[in-house]
Order: sequence, then structure tokens, then C-alpha cells
Amino acid sequence: MTLPPLELLRKYSVPGPRYTSYPTAPYFHTGFGESDWHAALAEADPTRGLSLYAHIPFCDSLCYYCGCNMVATRDYSKTVPYLAALDREMAATAARVDPARRVRQLHWGGGTPTYLNPDDIRRLMARMRQHFTLADDAEVSCEVDPRELTFEHLAALRETGFNRVSFGVQDMDPAVQEAVNRIQSEFLIRQVIDWSRELGFSSINLDLIVGLPKQTVTSFRRTLERVTAWAPDRLAVFAYAHVPWMKKHQKLINEADLPDLATRLELQQAVNEMLGDAGYVNIGLDHFARPEDELVRAQQNKTLWRNFQGYTTHKDSDILAFGASSISQTAGVYMQNEKRLKHYEARIADTGFAVERGLRLTRDDQIRRDAITRVMCDLELDFDAFGREWDIVFADYFAGSLADLRPLAEDGLLEIDASRLRVTPTGRLFLRNIGMGFDRYLKDTASDKPRYSRTA
Ligand code: SF4
Repeated sequence: MTLPPLELLRKYSVPGPRYTSYPTAPYFHTGFGESDWHAALAEADPTRGLSLYAHIPFCDSLCYYCGCNMVATRDYSKTVPYLAALDREMAATAARVDPARRVRQLHWGGGTPTYLNPDDIRRLMARMRQHFTLADDAEVSCEVDPRELTFEHLAALRETGFNRVSFGVQDMDPAVQEAVNRIQSEFLIRQVIDWSRELGFSSINLDLIVGLPKQTVTSFRRTLERVTAWAPDRLAVFAYAHVPWMKKHQKLINEADLPDLATRLELQQAVNEMLGDAGYVNIGLDHFARPEDELVRAQQNKTLWRNFQGYTTHKDSDILAFGASSISQTAGVYMQNEKRLKHYEARIADTGFAVERGLRLTRDDQIRRDAITRVMCDLELDFDAFGREWDIVFADYFAGSLADLRPLAEDGLLEIDASRLRVTPTGRLFLRNIGMGFDRYLKDTASDKPRYSRTA
């Protein structure tokens, strides 16, 4: 008998990874050092494109739900040594990368990249262009906090080549905004969207969060009504990850104000229904886009991929990430930088690199990463095609995974037959749980210390 959605949620709401990488970040280890990263850069396939990431960790104030590596400060002078370190790190890395390689994608995240003033935005982008060569059609995007943003900030981004912006909206309800210490009026958001359109950004993304304190289905429906009226090109609707044992400041959130499981389910259903009615297509876990968007096309063509920035069309690019805590990725290696700002700056001043930990993927890691990614991106997996690609017999190689996934199939989350696996509409809510069926590390590690947020 199929369980009702709320029972499924109760059953499957367990700590689990979001699979922006596999193996996931907790398995990166400090045995991986600078010489390993140098080797990874040296052996990288020069035909692959580049995806650059710059982490700007500064924010004016602290949002209580924040899960990012950030520093809340009003002292702008802190940006001076940090920007110098970014420049040095980019120079050191660029010296080890084939100069013929083109940047297909460039992204600034944080923190708040627009914490930087317009002149520093121009200077940083000029330095990135000096160290690397951007393709003419590169996708150049920036995360933007609408608060304290001026027209000049956006103009500086546009002038230096940014063509996409992503605004953190989260929730428009004043009670929710107060509960998470992020007050931003409707007028403010409307204005920054208008400015972006006036400046000619080709894609506007809005981020929302479900599961915030004081959120109700009625209030969030009002947020969705306003947001869809602004007609962004994409929407990312993240589930709030309450992990106060990892992010101490989340203790500032009153847990009694968090929506219960039944409300979270209704919130998610409201998102799917209202964004669907507004013409958006749900891409896997948490992204929505218009039917003509390249993410939707990539999903149809089975070329969609998942990395630390979420869903992407740039599977064939290596990520070179700069700044404290940022994570780089080549075809077979993950590398994470030192997280603490001062330590990051000191290490960059010393050698130009700040490798904290990393991981070289085994062939089994690569095969499992591909299986998890196919499920999360394509929502289906053809056993024969997958087996041909990796020279394995899928049913033999993944016999354990298929056995582990059987109960999920019995609960209606996926269909498995002799030739393929397909995620059902109900199963879309549980993609992380399905991915976990392929995760060897979860099985091998016996630990009662929570490492991940809950899957639902
Ligand atoms: S602006 Fe973003 S990075 Fe900064 S505290 Fe708020 S959520 Fe975190």
C-alpha cells in the first residue's frame, strides 16, 4: 500500500547530503595537500573549459539562517588584504593552467559579492580577466543582496561583463524577515529587478527558502504570488537546513517557530503548484526555470550536471575556485581552501595557495558520482547506456544499491525494472534519499554525529 505524502516525509526525513559533490565534502581529507593540487592542475585535460568562482565572504549583517562561510563586518578595510590575496591566488593558479583554456562560466558568491564597492568590483573583474581568458559567450553571474545595493553596483557588474544576477529574496513576509534578521521591502526587490532589466542582464534568478521560522502556507503563498509577478527567468527554492551544531548562529532561531513537517510538506506543494501554474519547469531538487531556459533544454538532452553551484550546463569544465573555503574541482579531484580568513590570507601570501583538504576520486567514486548525478539531473537512469559508458554490468556493479532502493520503489518513490530506474513525481521530493542508495561512504561510515541536514 502506498503511504500518504506526510507519512513518506516522516519516514524519509533523515540526515543526508545534497550531492553537490560525491564523495561529499566531509570526506575530503587533509592528507591531500598543495603538491597534490599542483599535480591535479598539471594533469588536467586541456580541452576542458574553465569555470571560475570567487568567494567574497563579507556581509553587512548576519542572517540567522545562513549556512555560508561568511564574516559580518562594517569594517570595509578588511577587504583590502583579502582582495590582494585573491589576486595572488589567481596569479599562482593561472601560472599552472594552459593559457589556451577558455573560461565558459564565471561566478561570484559569498558572503555578499556586492559588499564590494563599484570600484573594487571593476578592479577584481579586471584582474580575473588579466589572469584568465573569458570566452565571448561566457556565462558570468553574481549573487546579489538587494539590501544596501545601489544602481552603481549593478552598473559596475554589467559594465565588466556580468550577464546574470541572482537575488536573495528568501521570504517577503515581515514576520519571517524579522525572525531571521533579514529585512527587505517589496519596493527594494522590485527596484533592483527593474535596475537589472534596465541594465540588460540576460538572466535574473531569485532565491527563496522554505522552512524558515514563522513561515505559514498562507504567507508563503503571498510571497510566491509577488515573486512570480516579477517574472524572473529562474527561481531556486531551497529547503532551510537547520544545523545549529555546525552553524552556531542558527541557535538565534527559535526552534518553536520552525514549521512542522506537515507545514513543510504543504509549503513544498504550494511551491510546485504555484510555480508550475506560472509556467516554470521544476529541474530536479530545487531549481525552477522557464521552458526555453538552457537548464531545461540540458535536462531534456541529458547533459545537465550538478556541482557546488547547484545545477549547471557546464559538465565539461574544471572549477577553479578562489577565496577562503572555496572548492575547486577537476575531473578527478576536489580541493577545498582554508576557511579562516586570516589563515587563508597568510597562506596565500606565503605560497600563493591555501589548500586545506581535498580528495582524489577513485574509479568507483567516479562511477557512483555519475549514477547519483544522473538520478538528480535526468530523474532516470538507463542501465545499459550507463554500463556501456563505464564498461560495467550495471545490475552486477550496483546489486547492493538496487537492493537498498527496493523499499523506496515499494513506497512509490521510483520505478525499477530490468533496464532502467525512473524517479516518480512523488519521488522528486526525495531525490537526496534516492541518491543515498548509491553512496558507498554512508554505508561504510558508522557515526552517530550528524553531518548533514535532513533530506525533507
Ligand atoms: S547575506 Fe547571505 S551570506 Fe550573508 S549572512 Fe545573509 S545569507 Fe549569509
